[in-house]
Amino acid sequence: MMTRRAFLGSAALAAAGSAYALATRGPRVARDAFPVARSPAAWRRRLGPRRYRILREAATEPPFSSPLHAEKRAGTYHCAGCDQPLFASRHKYDSGTGWPAFTRPIAPARIGYARDTSLGMIRTEEHCARCGGHLGHLFDDGPPPLGKRHCINGLALRFRPAA
Ligand SMILES: [Zn+2]
Repeated sequence: MMTRRAFLGSAALAAAGSAYALATRGPRVARDAFPVARSPAAWRRRLGPRRYRILREAATEPPFSSPLHAEKRAGTYHCAGCDQPLFASRHKYDSGTGWPAFTRPIAPARIGYARDTSLGMIRTEEHCARCGGHLGHLFDDGPPPLGKRHCINGLALRFRPAA
């Protein structure tokens, strides 16, 4: 139920985003229509150029470029934009693709989804439900039982080791 509500909510936000004609690289997500909202200049100052390109402009980091790809300690992965805890180490796995991958988020409502037709592909974009920051994409080739692969840019996350 929560998953469906969260999905419908993000779909509505994505529809609203198309009206703004934002200069996003892929999915049309109204990235300023979330509980945590900042101006582009404020985001740029807060995130720095590399994280800004990913979280606010939906760019993708090169595969195998993130130190978090090989991170195996117990802990929590937070949104680098607003610090919301998004993924847990127990749901992380090596997908072999070069990006951090998770079988599920900590809670379904913390992630929003949008249709992404950029680069000639139809994909499901995922973003932080609190700040709208682009995280990565959701694929259906994950391990059982859920069969989902949350393919996430390491630069969109900050890892907090368990105490
Ligand atoms: Zn966030």
